[in-house]
Amino acid sequence: MTGHEIRKRFLDYFKEKGHTIVKSSSLIPSADPTLLFTNAGMVQFKDVFLGNEKRDYKRAATSQKCVRAGGKHNDLEVVGRTARHHTFFEMLGNFSFGDYFKEGAIKYGWEFMTEVIKLPKEKLWITVYKDDDEAFKIWNEKIGIPADKIMRLGEKDNFWSMGDTGPCGPCSEIHIDQGEGIGCGRPECNVECDCDRFMELWNLVFMQYNRDAKGVLTALPNPSIDTGMGLERLSAVVQKVKSNYESDLLRPIITYSEGLFEKGYGKDSNMDISFRVIADHSRAITFLIADGVMPSNEGRGYVLRRIIRRASRHGKMLGKNEPFLFKTSEVVVNLMKDTYPELVDRSEYISRVISTEEERFGSTLDYGMRMLNDLIENLKVKKDRTIPGEEAFKLYDTYGFPLDLTEDIARDSGFSVDTQGYTRAMEGQKEKARASWKGSGEEGIKPVYREVLQKIKGVQSLSKPQRDMFTGYDSMESEGVILYIIKNNELRKSASEGEEVEIVLDKTPFYGESGGQVGDTGKFWDEDVNADVMDTKKPLQNLIIHNAVIKKGSIKAGNTIKISVNQDKRRATALNHSATHLLHTALRDVLGDHVKQAGSLVSPDRLRFDYTHFSAPAAKEMHRVEEIVNQKIRENYAVETSVMGLDDAVKKGATALFGEKYGEEVRVVKMGDYSMELCGGTHTKATGNIGLFKIIHEGGIASGIRRIEALTGEGAYKYIKQEEEQLNEIRDMLKSPPQEELAKIKKVLERNKELERELQKLKDKTVKDMSGDVMAEVKIIKGVNILSKNLGNFDIKDLRSFIDSTKVKIKSGVVVAGAVTDGKVSLVAGVTKDLTSKLNAGEIIKQTAVIVEGSGGGRADMAQAGGKNPAKLDEALEKVYEIIEKMLV
Ligand code: ATP
Ligand code: MG
Repeated sequence: MTGHEIRKRFLDYFKEKGHTIVKSSSLIPSADPTLLFTNAGMVQFKDVFLGNEKRDYKRAATSQKCVRAGGKHNDLEVVGRTARHHTFFEMLGNFSFGDYFKEGAIKYGWEFMTEVIKLPKEKLWITVYKDDDEAFKIWNEKIGIPADKIMRLGEKDNFWSMGDTGPCGPCSEIHIDQGEGIGCGRPECNVECDCDRFMELWNLVFMQYNRDAKGVLTALPNPSIDTGMGLERLSAVVQKVKSNYESDLLRPIITYSEGLFEKGYGKDSNMDISFRVIADHSRAITFLIADGVMPSNEGRGYVLRRIIRRASRHGKMLGKNEPFLFKTSEVVVNLMKDTYPELVDRSEYISRVISTEEERFGSTLDYGMRMLNDLIENLKVKKDRTIPGEEAFKLYDTYGFPLDLTEDIARDSGFSVDTQGYTRAMEGQKEKARASWKGSGEEGIKPVYREVLQKIKGVQSLSKPQRDMFTGYDSMESEGVILYIIKNNELRKSASEGEEVEIVLDKTPFYGESGGQVGDTGKFWDEDVNADVMDTKKPLQNLIIHNAVIKKGSIKAGNTIKISVNQDKRRATALNHSATHLLHTALRDVLGDHVKQAGSLVSPDRLRFDYTHFSAPAAKEMHRVEEIVNQKIRENYAVETSVMGLDDAVKKGATALFGEKYGEEVRVVKMGDYSMELCGGTHTKATGNIGLFKIIHEGGIASGIRRIEALTGEGAYKYIKQEEEQLNEIRDMLKSPPQEELAKIKKVLERNKELERELQKLKDKTVKDMSGDVMAEVKIIKGVNILSKNLGNFDIKDLRSFIDSTKVKIKSGVVVAGAVTDGKVSLVAGVTKDLTSKLNAGEIIKQTAVIVEGSGGGRADMAQAGGKNPAKLDEALEKVYEIIEKMLV
C-alpha cells in the first residue's frame, strides 16, 4: 500500500463514520501569533475546541501538513538521527467537537489499525496517562488489551498540549514494537525508550482543558477528541521497512540524491544521516515556501533559512559544492503534486527561492566550515570542548552560520557551543547597531525640526498616530494658528512677500508625505495674505511642515490663517492610494501569498507599487490582476477606516507592511471583504470612485523585486484616449476600417520584406555588373593594378561583395570602394593575396578614412571603415592612389 493510498484509506474510513473531510490548513497558522508553524492537525480547530467558533459539523478528519522545527514542538535536532522524526510531516487525524469522547476515539483507532490497515494486534502497545483510569478500562475491558500491555505514563509523555497555552488534555497512544532488530537493542528496551524500536504511531488526545498564560487549567465547555498519527510512520510500518526514509514517501528523494551525489545510501552511517537530512529538509523547504515563507533573518523566515543552510552543509559533506536543493525540491513536488496541486503552480517560484538562497550561502559555507574546523582543531590541543560564544557569533555574523548549524557541526566532533556567550555577543552587537543608527539615522533630520517638536505642547500626545495634528481625513479646509515659521533652518517671527518658508500650524488638513503617499499642496490666505503651499512633509513623528511661498502680504507667528488643500490633487491621490490596496490583494490572489509590498509611491497622477516576486509575471497574469482590480472597483465597496490596537488589527487579518514600524494604535483601511491594510493615508470613500485602473508598466528593479506603474480615474481615461488617438492615426495612415488594422499591417510588413528581397537582388546584380565594367578604370601604379571607386547608395555588405568580385576580376591589385547611405560613409579596401606582403588593406583604409572624418581597420587583405563626412568621399577615393603610391616606395 502506498503512502498516498494509506492517506486515502484513513480519510475514507472516517468519512464513512460520519466525519467531514477538511482540507489541510497552511503551515502558517492563520492569526495565531503564539505559534510559529502548524504543528498538529488540531491547530486549525483550536477555536472550535475553545468554544469560540462554531462549525456546521461535529466530526472532522484531516491529513494536515505539519512542521516541527521551532517553538514548543521542535524536532530539528534529531532529524536524520532517528528513523521516525521529520521537520515536515503529514498528520492524519480525526476530531470530535463535543460529540464522541474517549470510548469512541479508542474504538475507531483500534478498528482502523487492526481491521483496515491490518497491523498485527500482538505487536501493538498502549499507553495512557497515569491517572486516567477511564481510558485504561476502555482499552482493557472493552477492547481486550491485556493489562501488562497498557502502560501508565506521566505528564511528559501522556499529557498533550499544543503550546504553552491553549487546549490540552490527557492522551493515550498506540505504539508498535518493531522487534529487537531496530533501535537500541537493550534487553530492557520498552515503550518508554527513546529509540526507534517501540515507535509511537498514534496519539489520541482527550481534550478536556484550556491552559491559560499562568498555567491554570479550566475545563473546556465540551470535552473533545483530537488525534494525530504520522503518515510517514504508518507508511513505513505498513510497507514493512525499517525507517520512514525507506517508505515510498521519502525513499525516491534519497534515490535521486544517490544519483546526484554519486554515492550509495546504506553504506556509511554518517553519510546516511546526510542523505536523510537532505530528503527531510527538501520536503520542509518546498512546503514552507509554497505556503509563503521566505528566507529571512527572523521568525519563520529564519527557521526556513536555517533548514536550507543545514541541508546545504550536508550536501557539502556528501561532496557537492554547488546548489542542489532546488533539484531535490523538484523531486518533492513530483512526489506530492497529486495531493498538493498548489506545489505545481508554485514550483518555478519555489526552486528560484531555494537556488537564490543556496547561492547566497554557498560561497561563505566553505570559509565558515574551514574556520570552524581550525577552531575545533585548536581547541582539541587545549583539551577544551566548548566553542566560545563570540566565535559562534562571528560565524553567524560573517558567514551566516545559524547557531544551530554551528552546534550541529560541533556535535559531530563531540563539542558544544557556549550559547550564553553567543547571546551576549549578539546583544552587544545589537546595542552597537542601535547606537550607530541613532547617530546616522536621525542626523538627517534638521535640528530645527526637533526643536519645534520639543516646543509644541504635549509632545507626548504627538507620539500617537498623526490624527492629533492632522485633521485632513474628513476635511480639506479649515483655519489654523501659525505656530512656527522656519527659514534656512532657523525660527522666524514673520515672513514677507516673495519669501519661501516652512510653516508649522497647530492643526492642519494637509497630508505630510508618508507611507508612500506624496504631501498635499494648496493655499493659505486671509484678507491681505496669500501663500501657495508647494509641498507638505512629515519629517519627524507627527510634525507636519508646509513648504510655502508668500505670494502677497506677510505672515506672523501667532496669526490665524485660512487653509485649503488642493482638492483635485488630493482626490486623484486618494484614488491612486485606494487602488494600490486593491492591487496588493489582487497580486497575491494571482501570483501567490509570497507577494509582499516592497515600497510604493502614490501621487495625484500615477501610482507605483513595488512587490516581491521572483520571475516576470506572464502577460496573462498581469491582465488578470488588472481585470480583478477593475472588477473590485465596480463592486463599489465602501472604504471604511477605523483605529484599533495593533494586536486586534493583526488578529482581524489586516495586512501589515513588512519592515514598517507601527505604534500601539493603528488605523485600518478596509474595502469590503477584499482588502484590509494598516495605513495612515487618505482614501476615497468608495472604490467605485476610482473609475478605471490601468497598468502601464511592469518590470524588475532588483533581484526578487518588481515594480508596477499604473493609472486610475481621469489619468487612466486620458491614457486610453491617447492610445486610441494613436490607433486612429494609424488607421488613417493605413486607410483601414476599424478592426482590420492588424491584417493590414501584416500585409504591409510582408510586402515590405518582399520589396527588400527584390531590392537586394537588384543590388547584387548591379554590383556584379559594375565590377564587370571597371576594368577600364583601373590605374597601374608602379606595376600594381589599383581601382578606387564611389559606388553611390549602397551599404557595407554590398561594398564587400563588390570588392570580392572585383578582386577576382583584376587577379592582382588593390580595390577600394566607398558608398553613402543615410548620410554616413562606408569604405572597404581589398588587397589580393599576392600583394599583402607589400600592401596592407588595414593601413590603406585607415589613411583613407581620416579624410572622411572616420576610422576603421581590418586584415591585410580586407578592411573596412565608416566616416561622417560624405562630401569628402570623392576626395578621399582620389587620394587612394597617392596613398598606395607612397606605400610602394
Ligand atoms: P514522538 O514522541 O515520537 O516525538 P510526539 O509525542 O511528539 O511523538 P505527537 O505530538 O503526539 O507526537 O504527534 C502525533 C503523531 O504525529 C505522533 O504519534 C507521530 O506519529 C507523529 N509525529 C510527531 N512528531 C513527528 C515528527 N517529528 N515526524 C514525523 N511524525 C511525527
Ligand atoms: Mg515529539
